[in-house]
Amino acid sequence: MDTKSDILYLCNAQGEVLSVQLPIQVWTQIEAKVMPLVREALGKSAEPEEESLPPEPMTDWQTLVEYWDFKYPVNTEVHCDVCASSTEDWTKDEPRKFWLRACNLGGLLRYRCLNCQAMITKRLYKDKIKFEAKPEQEKDPLLNAVYGSGSTRK
Ligand SMILES: [Zn+2]
Repeated sequence: MDTKSDILYLCNAQGEVLSVQLPIQVWTQIEAKVMPLVREALGKSAEPEEESLPPEPMTDWQTLVEYWDFKYPVNTEVHCDVCASSTEDWTKDEPRKFWLRACNLGGLLRYRCLNCQAMITKRLYKDKIKFEAKPEQEKDPLLNAVYGSGSTRK
């Protein structure tokens, strides 16, 4: 087999080599071996993955429901004071209006408002529920100032 003529280098009009073409018989023999290297090499230039929300901690929510010992029925209501979005049952919204970010047995739930990206905290007390909403984009300038100049202060 004349190796050189079996491998085709594809060039552009300026004579620059753009890609390499192999006969399919050769490719099928080496594909499994070289694909990890090809993927790795291509991966470096691949576009970064889209930022997506982590899965909702539904197991934690189920556990909270299972051990529900508050003086009111299981409550699935969520509302956002920042953009006035609200739902009776966030688990039934299609598409979701609120995304559960964290949930613990003590009755502290955190949601992301998918309308305005605000961070919503829902606290379950024995006989009441308290909501807090914080706009996500808003950074606390005071907090940054304190941390930023911390080492220079005496
Ligand atoms: Zn909102």
